[in-house]
Amino acid sequence: MASTLVAVALTTAPAAHAVSAPDPATAQSAAALVVTLRYDDSRATGWEAAVTAGVASWNANVDNVKLVRVSPGARAEIQIVATSGWPQATLGPVRPGGQARVELGSQAVTQGHDKTRIAAHEIGHNLGLWDTKPGPCSQLMSGSSAGTSCRNALPNATEQARVEAAYAAGAASRIPTDGRVLVDAG
Ligand SMILES: [Zn+2]
Repeated sequence: MASTLVAVALTTAPAAHAVSAPDPATAQSAAALVVTLRYDDSRATGWEAAVTAGVASWNANVDNVKLVRVSPGARAEIQIVATSGWPQATLGPVRPGGQARVELGSQAVTQGHDKTRIAAHEIGHNLGLWDTKPGPCSQLMSGSSAGTSCRNALPNATEQARVEAAYAAGAASRIPTDGRVLVDAG
């Protein structure tokens, strides 16, 4: 992989600088280390907008991992489904080729909790974040403990940093996926 990237960098760099300029290769290697995780939300009926917004919240606030939607039935690390129970999710950090699940449970909606915050929170578990309950609305992972008036779906700086660390260059080999299921019962 690395040798391929070097070859690309060399062929796209001006010939006169190809030998003396290692920086393009370094930059391309860093970009290539962004982890892409695919998700299938075709069974998240009624949660489509919340999933889209929750995913956008993560993609806009972390750099080392990106979430990409796939067509139903395509290979995906993250399966997102709607249920009639409590929201719950597999604790990650899920890796490429791994398996994680988000259950968007309607009981939390019945209680009055915001659907986008729920979706972003449960995806946060897949990305390796624990609950931080009780906690303020400014924390995404404080979940239901912030109350039904809380509609914040943005991870705060600490939460962003934890996810960035879990998906930083080389972290895939150092930090194992947890795999247990965290239930967000209200
Ligand atoms: Zn939770």
